[in-house]
Amino acid sequence: MDITEASLNEIWNKTINELGGQTSRPTIKTWFSEIRPVSFSDGVLKLNVPNKMVKFWVEQKLHYTLLKAAKSFIPELEKIDYVLIEERLKTTTKISQSQKTFSYYKKTSLFEADPSTNLNHRYRFDNFVVGGNNELAFAAAQGIVNDSSAKVNPLFIYGGVGLGKTHLLQSIGNEILKNHKDKKVKYITSEQFTNELIDSLKNNSIDEFKLKFRGLDFLIVDDTQFFSGKTKSQEELFHTFNFIYNASKQIVFSSDRPPALIPDIEQRLRSRFEGGLIIDITTPDLETRLAILKIKCQEKGFLLDNEILELIAKKINRNIRELEGALNLVVYVIKEKKIETITEERINEILKDYLTQLYRKITPQKIIKIVSDFYNIQETDMLKKSRKVNIIKPRQVVMYLLRDLGKMSYVSIGEVLSNRDHTTIIYSCEKIVKELNTNIELSQEVEILRTKILEL
Ligand code: ADP
Ligand code: MG
Repeated sequence: MDITEASLNEIWNKTINELGGQTSRPTIKTWFSEIRPVSFSDGVLKLNVPNKMVKFWVEQKLHYTLLKAAKSFIPELEKIDYVLIEERLKTTTKISQSQKTFSYYKKTSLFEADPSTNLNHRYRFDNFVVGGNNELAFAAAQGIVNDSSAKVNPLFIYGGVGLGKTHLLQSIGNEILKNHKDKKVKYITSEQFTNELIDSLKNNSIDEFKLKFRGLDFLIVDDTQFFSGKTKSQEELFHTFNFIYNASKQIVFSSDRPPALIPDIEQRLRSRFEGGLIIDITTPDLETRLAILKIKCQEKGFLLDNEILELIAKKINRNIRELEGALNLVVYVIKEKKIETITEERINEILKDYLTQLYRKITPQKIIKIVSDFYNIQETDMLKKSRKVNIIKPRQVVMYLLRDLGKMSYVSIGEVLSNRDHTTIIYSCEKIVKELNTNIELSQEVEILRTKILEL
């Protein structure tokens, strides 16, 4: 019996629905959304799978469930063949023609994570490229999941935007669960932690909240810089930390800066952050960027020439999220315009447009907001002519960044900042420029702000 394409699609959709009732929804969504039925004949159902990871996962973990579900709609079904799209297209075109549409700026979303652990299978040690910029952080991460090595507790990893902190933290969680299914692991961002705490206070369920965190074997807290100024959350985190730590369980933190530079954090919490091992992740070198592009291509089923990848890796060097964005854009253009062979000039054009687009997103409002958030001061205070001591430096940094990244004139910077005289602005900008040469802390802060402002 052969089945037409239309009814095959219908059967496939029914099968997925059927599976939806048997396994947890996120699994179905993650693993099946990119699989397409191709044909059915002689008892064999052929499915296109987008990459090796999905193929491996479905074959290993879900094959029998899938076979059973599909058999209820095609009784003649005997066997399922999983065909890798990338293999099929290797000789015909450079890029997989997988049907999925994507926007090139899409971020990997934690939304597809397992709701009980908040872990997303996309982030694993095996697809994390190790280079000089992150090898220590990677080794430390492996160390804490490895049963035999001495533990550092807590592990605190910091680094700029888009450099792989979340990827590494999530990998830790996934690796632990791979080896020890019974361990209780939770990944949480500081914002989620704060929100859940507020909810539990509202709903009178603070005891449940405490219990949930205190029973963990591994607590992984991402983006701890957002605890800045949040007294209640800090207090709860402090007690949670002590509880887990005293039970000899593991804690991992990340932040966009070292603990010493997080403003408005209680000293006792800061000293907990600093009590284990603090390691940074920096920007990757060319070789590492190239390796990352290769692994991303593999995962997404793109087949691009090495020369193309090199051009991208050379041009985009600030952070990995941008690197991925650039890769996606290049692929998008090649696909949309059905380009057979692409020239170096065209790639450079695409990358130039991409960078221009990134810069266009830099507005004075964005700069002011990011700097205010970073130093944890009110935007209105930043703009007003207040002489409060704690505002003077952040305001000078705003002026400097409006000039340096915002490419604004001194006069218009003065206008944005409550009509200050342009000579004041010139003075402040020059002061920062001078200080950047000697003040390591300030230059670190400005570097962090720069990456934040340039973030997609
Ligand atoms: P951060 O949390 O530091 O802002 P992410 O972990 O979200 O950065 O990383 C941004 C993107 O770059 C993710 O898609 C991630 O998978 C990718 N990435 C970062 N570092 C690496 C690496 N070393 N190897 C592979 N992919 C990486
Ligand atoms: Mg992150």
